[in-house]
Amino acid sequence: MIVAGEPSFRESVDLMFNRAAALMNLSPGLEHKIKVCNATYTVRFGVRLRGKIETFVGYRAVHSEHLEPVKGGIRYAPNVHQDEVEALAALMTYKCALVETPFGGSKGGLCIDPRQYDEHELEQITRRFAYELIKRDLIHPSQNVPAPDMGTGEREMAWIADQYARMYTTEINARACVTGKPLHSGGIAGRIEATGRGVQYALREFFRHPEDVAKAGLSGDLDGKRVIVQGLGNVGYHAALFLSQEDGAKVIAVLERDGAIVDSDGLDISALREWIAKHGGVADYPYGTYIEDGASLLEADCDILIPAAMEGVINLTNVERIRAPLIIEAANGPITAGADEILRKKGTVVIPDLYANAGGVTVSYFEWVKNLSHIRFGRMQRRAEEAHHQLLVDELERLSADKGLGWELSPDFKRRYLQGASELDLVRSGLDDTMRTAYQSMREVWHSRPEVTDLRVAAYMVAIERVALSYRSKGL
Ligand code: NAD
Repeated sequence: MIVAGEPSFRESVDLMFNRAAALMNLSPGLEHKIKVCNATYTVRFGVRLRGKIETFVGYRAVHSEHLEPVKGGIRYAPNVHQDEVEALAALMTYKCALVETPFGGSKGGLCIDPRQYDEHELEQITRRFAYELIKRDLIHPSQNVPAPDMGTGEREMAWIADQYARMYTTEINARACVTGKPLHSGGIAGRIEATGRGVQYALREFFRHPEDVAKAGLSGDLDGKRVIVQGLGNVGYHAALFLSQEDGAKVIAVLERDGAIVDSDGLDISALREWIAKHGGVADYPYGTYIEDGASLLEADCDILIPAAMEGVINLTNVERIRAPLIIEAANGPITAGADEILRKKGTVVIPDLYANAGGVTVSYFEWVKNLSHIRFGRMQRRAEEAHHQLLVDELERLSADKGLGWELSPDFKRRYLQGASELDLVRSGLDDTMRTAYQSMREVWHSRPEVTDLRVAAYMVAIERVALSYRSKGL
């Protein structure tokens, strides 16, 4: 989305970078090196569809190769352009550094409206796009590893993995060329939900710090908090579902392409998602009030606003009217640099994208490690862990019986304690740890330096420092 009269998405990311770099002690040469996008490849390829040759335009931007492989999703949207993929690739560099996934930043995009094609056509187009990138090592297990983004999902990732395997038939690590694959094609449990789950873990961690919560003028925990979500796609759906089902938050409005649905008592997220899947939008959803001008709901009264659709939606045209005291950027770049400045002046707390939506790349990292190690997480330990726990339970029960103590472990405790960790448990644990640790690293900078006034600048500072260290150790 290009916002008239405002810097482009890439310029917006650069302005945010500059704000952080100004508070750091980098040499000007290194600062520039970190900021610029290393390379962007543009490809135009033809596919014969419905009896005609159609030409598609795709991009793969590599922002920083301080660590390899570089990592970043592939987006399918009609208005994808070079500026956008470069902005997203830069965000990937900073995001990976912040959550300590050992990757440089990359991003790809294809100018396409996927809803205009059937599954077979999309497969042909995806395979051809993948072929063009694979033959230039822009998809490669140790060079460049894509993942899903807006408009793509595990189906497209499975096609890409298969295309790579067809071109490199003896490559034992072929599956590690892309993440976000279905479980049966080398994927990992918990990847689909990962970004939304990460948003939930980020909010939980934020609410563990009453001082931070108070900065947003809020108190307590997530229970009962009124949430508005824009975009009920992969990220928005999972975030909304988990926050409402597991943390007691009330999702009072969901904004989609065709309008918004509002219910001050809280929406049933699963039912709404099913409705959208069936009817293509939120209009006529029977359990809530439909508002045609969905974007106006960004300005509604709520405790937490979750933009989870696309970039640039909070900009100079609406920022003054935004009332949410806390915004968590589940999408990449939903707030323009200009709007960000105004929100800071208003005292709005923003949990920034490079942290908030890092759950996806974190679990992608786990998937990549799984692919390279060729074994499911937990496969070796699970039953051994259960056997150890069983030993303890047996001993406690024996002691209780021998000494006539009458202790009885509740069946629920026993069931939960005796169960060894599955791959999903381990993935969630690793993600939770990552989100907590990254929050604490930003928070430390936020609270220890008076000139650091917000979480975004703190996040950039942590990330840039790590990238700088990496470049310095390479002799730059
Ligand atoms: P998606 O395609 O699954 O969902 C996007 C949703 O937003 C769809 O439901 C769509 O209908 C809706 N939408 C689009 N334009 C809208 C508009 N103008 N108003 C309201 N709703 C609109 O995409 P996604 O994967 O959920 O990605 C969403 C955002 O999250 C993007 O910014 C993406 O870069 C970011 N992100 C995604 C992942 C991931 O793992 N998928 C990871 C990190 C960041």
